[in-house]
Amino acid sequence: MFKFCPQCGTKLTSHTINNIPRLVCPNCHYVHWSNETISTGGIVIKDHKILLVQRAQHPGRGLWTNPGGFVEQTEDLGTSIAREIKEETGLVTKPREIVLVADKPGERNHNIFVNFQLDYVSGDFHLQTSELLNAGFFTREEIKQMPVAKLTQEIIKLVIIDEKQKPNLGKINVPSTETNGFTLYR
Ligand SMILES: [Zn+2]
Repeated sequence: MFKFCPQCGTKLTSHTINNIPRLVCPNCHYVHWSNETISTGGIVIKDHKILLVQRAQHPGRGLWTNPGGFVEQTEDLGTSIAREIKEETGLVTKPREIVLVADKPGERNHNIFVNFQLDYVSGDFHLQTSELLNAGFFTREEIKQMPVAKLTQEIIKLVIIDEKQKPNLGKINVPSTETNGFTLYR
């Protein structure tokens, strides 16, 4: 949490605005409205198999997930996920559509996780070994036998592997279920 105004450096004070206590600058009237963390995840399909990566870091070291990471302030979501996949695995990919948005509001932080399906374009594996133990393309049957993060399991269910099926471009439906405190929109 901020203690000092990011605009002028004056100590912030608490004021209730719209029934919620906010940190306000008594000097320049800056209001700190909220803390958000926005991250992207990607599901890449190649030869009817799904790209998964194995985490090298806690929490969840050894677990398989879809690649992803935090969005930079100045990049759009599709650029963010293609960059993350390139950094982590070396693969060049192209975003196709949003398959799932996971939403986790909280007192300290509001966590928003946007997941894309992407098409494989080019490149071979060059793993970022500080982040990953392993990576590969796997069939749904193979994935069932692997330790896969719960949220990744939910995302995999929504992915279109058959290229003949029309992609459901950018469509996000009303919230339906909940996993690990995230509301899942699909
Ligand atoms: Zn200020």
